[in-house]
Amino acid sequence: MTEALKILVVASEVEGLVKTGGLADVARALPACLQAMGHDVKVVMPAYQRIREHWRTWPAQSFTLSLSLSENHSIRARTGNNAGLPMILLEHAPSFERDGVYDDGYHAFDDNPRRFAILSKGALQWCLVNDWQPDIVHLNDWQSALGAYYLSEHFQNEPHFAHTRSLLTLHNGAYQGHADASWLQPLGIDLGYFREDIFEDYGRINLLKGGLYFADGLNAVSPGYAAELVTNLGGHGLGRFFRARQNDLIGIINGCDYGQWSPEIDAHIPAHFHSIDDAGKAQCKAALQREFSLAERAVPLLVSISRLTDQKGFHLLIPALEEVLKTTDIQVILLGSGDAQLAARLHSLEQRFAQQVRFIEGYDMALSHRLEAGGDAFLMPSLFEPCGLNQIYSQRYGTLPLVRAVGGLTDTVIALNENASNAQTATGFSFFEPDARPLQQAIARLITIYSDQPDLWQQMQRNAMAQRFEWRDSANRYIDFYQRLLTTPGSNSTAKRQ
Ligand code: ADP
Repeated sequence: MTEALKILVVASEVEGLVKTGGLADVARALPACLQAMGHDVKVVMPAYQRIREHWRTWPAQSFTLSLSLSENHSIRARTGNNAGLPMILLEHAPSFERDGVYDDGYHAFDDNPRRFAILSKGALQWCLVNDWQPDIVHLNDWQSALGAYYLSEHFQNEPHFAHTRSLLTLHNGAYQGHADASWLQPLGIDLGYFREDIFEDYGRINLLKGGLYFADGLNAVSPGYAAELVTNLGGHGLGRFFRARQNDLIGIINGCDYGQWSPEIDAHIPAHFHSIDDAGKAQCKAALQREFSLAERAVPLLVSISRLTDQKGFHLLIPALEEVLKTTDIQVILLGSGDAQLAARLHSLEQRFAQQVRFIEGYDMALSHRLEAGGDAFLMPSLFEPCGLNQIYSQRYGTLPLVRAVGGLTDTVIALNENASNAQTATGFSFFEPDARPLQQAIARLITIYSDQPDLWQQMQRNAMAQRFEWRDSANRYIDFYQRLLTTPGSNSTAKRQ
């Protein structure tokens, strides 16, 4: 192993404690893997009220955190662990003693800028208070992006951090942390940095944008997404600013937690299987059909598990399915929660095709495993996808993904080409134009292959099940990137980049 590094991971959600999306999976799995490789890792997250039972009895340490001259806060740091991973949870009742992580179910909390500034600077302050010198401060998305600014500008004369480098990982660049300009002073953002190329964005503050400027290194959670971020179309309005940091931006694909997601050992599925020839997969499918009162017949069963947001391509998927369902004997089970309008449209689809479609509104982890195991194909027509996990899980279960060829989906699914000449390697299907019609055609092709070319389908299932996206490989890439940052001068110094 290379020399052990001290790595401080700052994240707004961590699986096992609080999870709303893929960020939480990464914020647990990557540090756990780095720790297993011998590195000294600590993960910092807010002490949210909803997980109070976890941290209530953890040892507490109080310190004062100054965001600016007028913003001094009393913080209590709780130290404990999450399945063996050292955690520091920052307790600040005015910010975190409420239901909800980012919002009240309808609207983002008004004081999110302060809440996540407390996370970002509190994490660094904890290091100072405890004389723990991190080599790397690993920040994640807009919620901790300010950490790069604080490290560079609030602690620039602090010898404690003289060798520390920051990395900002982009799990989803569409969320940027916008705030009214009146937050500049409370957050301690120097007015001189309220510039179009740093924090300013159409008269408002953009926390992610500021983070992009100050972080020493940047990475997206797939090479495909990294390549899209530097474009005007794929940069979520920040393409120009990603381009300005192009030399410091790389893509590292996420790994998969195969301890949770493997059909041989999955604790949530009715029958285990080692290959598609085992009876287990068919048993899982039949169990799903029974569970959801669908006819137990050998028709293709298409499944989907998703947050209900525009990002996931439902406005393509719903009309495409409507057309296919009119003429084709298929079954569809969709699991999702989020946007109420999308949920209403999915309920209506279910009503119109009552023999064929089931929509389960909610977040159900155990069901998501049963769907991955029992489905024949997994639908994921995302408009953009930083990495995506479900298409990775589904391959492991021989459930062939149909994806839109963007971001991490292109990096993780080998799409069957037009003349099927790559049948020996293909693991799924893809389409590109963001329109219902090409998606409908891709679904139709998938169904034809399922029905008429079982040998090809099974070959693809075997290919898919043999794919591996190991965390250890991803963690090694992170280590290489950390090392690169540590051996090059900090690019976060404003003087160096002006
Ligand atoms: P994103 O982070 O954009 O939501 P990912 O595919 O990267 O998308 O990760 C989503 C994670 O959340 C996966 O682990 C997925 O299984 C899970 N998930 C999403 N929606 C649901 C749901 N309704 N029920 C159960 N699990 C869900």
